[in-house]
Formats: sequence, structure tokens, C-alpha cells
Amino acid sequence: MIKDLKAREILDSRGNPTVEVSLSTDKGEFVSSVPSGASTGMHEAKELRDNDDRYMGKGVLRAVQNINEKIKPLIVGKEVDPSIIDKIMIEADGTKDKSGLGANSILGVSMSVFRAAANEKNMPLFDFLSSFSRLEKNIPVPCFNIVNGGAHSGGGVSFQEFMIVPSEESFKENLRSAVEFTHELEESIAESYGRESTNIGDEGGFVPKAESEKEILKLLEKEGKKKSIIIDVAATEFFDEGKYSLGKERKDRKEMIAFYKEIVSDFSIIGIEDPLEENDFSGWKELREEIGELMIIGDDLLATNVERMELARKFDSCNAMILKINQIGSVSEAIEAAKKAKEFGWSIIVSHRSGETNDDFIADFAVGVGANYIKSGAPKRGERIAKYNRLLKIEEDTLKINQ
Ligand code: PEP
Ligand code: MG
Repeated sequence: MIKDLKAREILDSRGNPTVEVSLSTDKGEFVSSVPSGASTGMHEAKELRDNDDRYMGKGVLRAVQNINEKIKPLIVGKEVDPSIIDKIMIEADGTKDKSGLGANSILGVSMSVFRAAANEKNMPLFDFLSSFSRLEKNIPVPCFNIVNGGAHSGGGVSFQEFMIVPSEESFKENLRSAVEFTHELEESIAESYGRESTNIGDEGGFVPKAESEKEILKLLEKEGKKKSIIIDVAATEFFDEGKYSLGKERKDRKEMIAFYKEIVSDFSIIGIEDPLEENDFSGWKELREEIGELMIIGDDLLATNVERMELARKFDSCNAMILKINQIGSVSEAIEAAKKAKEFGWSIIVSHRSGETNDDFIADFAVGVGANYIKSGAPKRGERIAKYNRLLKIEEDTLKINQ
């Protein structure tokens, strides 16, 4: 039974306030904290910010108050049943985008309820998520964002993320391989651009003083051990009045597609996330027709929202999705999105946000919903590493079970 609920304002990895939740049952206290994006899509559930004179308007005391005063009386005394508790909160919120109570209030409680429910059943969180969702567990392949651009960097490059995807036999070996690659890249960036270019951005990737996307892709390919690459273009961020501002150039949809065709043939790119702006379903379809069997990954396009996924499916806009629990604002709805992706035959990439905490919930979540991939930034910065370290332990535990 849920005995108590208490929220507080803490800080995320950018030093911005975020919500932390403590939920208590007879068996213990379950603490969770909520991430926050910088390049958020317009179709995401809305986090509640105070917009007052504290923390440049970014305080979350209203969200905290909603948990302590509105959600608490609704759920204290109830059984630890995540479906029911999420439903109660969604109904109490009463909006489509969770702007009533705030997605940051609802999600924090939802995460803690899932943790408490796993504990009631004496199961590790990933196991519980798998039995709850009836999806088969999988240890995801990690995608490491080792060069940061766009909204995460303040650098001169428009594309937001350049990820490397290792292909070793285990998660542990994938992590080792990516770390070695990152250290080699660090030296190579220092040689080409100077040591100051090895400073890191919001997601732990380097921010070299490169002039163009192609220059960065060349840098990644130059390294001895070749890796597959996924790019997150986050195209909506530099789309304005029908054109994309790519460096000094302004490109229309056709020119962007031509650019993708060129880089896909020149570099080992296996996936492109948010290649075009977030409402251009037919443009995405056109790109899919031109580019062939590459992963075209919807993030801002889908916003982890089943209705948006149905639309994308109708247009055949993508064949892979980014799954972010705070985009939809409750864990059970994020699970519904995972099920929908499986039904559509899409690949799933569970993702962190650029503003994170040390909470490692998404590592268990990725395994529990059988995600193909996880992206949690570069193998640098504690809040990114927390997820990768948790996956090391999960892999060890599941291997033990399978032996
Ligand atoms: C992304 O766009 O995939 C991302 C993780 O960035 P943000 O959290 O800033 O939206
Ligand atoms: Mg993205």
C-alpha cells in the first residue's frame, strides 16, 4: 500500500531545477527524478515551470506543490498498482498534454510507483517492466553521442548529435569499445583543433570547432576502428520559413534529402533521427523512398505519442522511434508506445534527455520493453554514465539467470 508521497525541487545536469519524488510503501522509500529536454518537440507533454523570478523562471515549485497537495491525497492508501495510479493521475490532470498537473509531476510519481511495484514482487525493475508490459527483455545496443552540436553545444554545427554504435558481442564490450574510441577521438580532436575543442557539451560529447557536418563525419571515420554512425539532426531546431539553415546555407526539403543521400553514401551511417521538421510527414515519406533501408528515426515527429505514431505509420514516415518517458509523461503510456512500435515492426531507441539526473530508470526501462538501442550520451559525465553502469549490472544479472 502507498503510505506517503513527497516531492522536492532538485537540480539537473544543467543546473536547472527539476522534480524529485519520494514514494513510501510498507516496504520502503522509492526515489525518482525527472529529466528535461532542450530541443523539445511541440507535441511533447508539457512540463510545469514556475515562470517567476526564481531560477530565471525555471523553478518547479508548482509541480512539486501539485504532487504534495493534489496527487498525494488521491493515491495514499491505494494499492501499488502502476496502471491504476497512472490512470488516476491522468484523469486528475484532465488535459491532453498534461499541462494541468504537469508532465514533470506525473512522471516522477509514475516512475516511483513502478519502482515500488517491482519491490512488492521482489523483482528487479527491468524484470517487472517486462512482465508488466508482456514484452520480451533485451539488452539494448548503446549509441554514444560523442560529438555534440546544435542546441546542446553552442558550437557552429547545426546537427545536434553524432553517435557511434559499436557492434561487439555484449553490452560490456560495446561500452569498452566506445570508451576506447572516445579517448582516441579526444586525442585526434586535440591535434586538429586544439585542446579546448575537447571540452564537452550537454550530453558529454566533444564540441570541436568544426565548420560543417561533413567535417565531423570525416573525423569519426578517420579513427582506426570503424564504427557505425547514427545522427540526430533535430531539424526542427534550424527550420524556419520553409528552409533549413545548415551552416551558412539555406536548404529546402529536396536539398536536405539530396544532402542525406550524399552523406549516407560517403559515411557508415545506419540511422538518421529527425531528418526533417516535426510536422512534415510527407517529406519524411519522400526521404524514406529516396534513401532505402536505413533507420529513419522519429523523435520530435512522434513525441512518444501513440496518436502521432499512427499518423507516421499511415504516411510511412519512419521505421524507428525514439522512446522518451518524459515526452508522454507517464511510464505506462510510454510502455503503450513501445508496444505500438513492436506492432509496427519499428526499431526502438530508448533515450535520455539533454538535462538529466543520476536516476538510471531508463536503463531498466529499455531492457524491460525489449528496446533495440539506448542512447544516453557520450561515455562521459556522471548522469550519462549512470545509465550505462546500470546496464552493466543488468547484463551481469540476466546472464547469471540464463546460465
Ligand atoms: C534528442 O533530441 O534526442 C535529445 C535527447 O535532446 P533533448 O533532450 O534536448 O530534446
Ligand atoms: Mg532527438
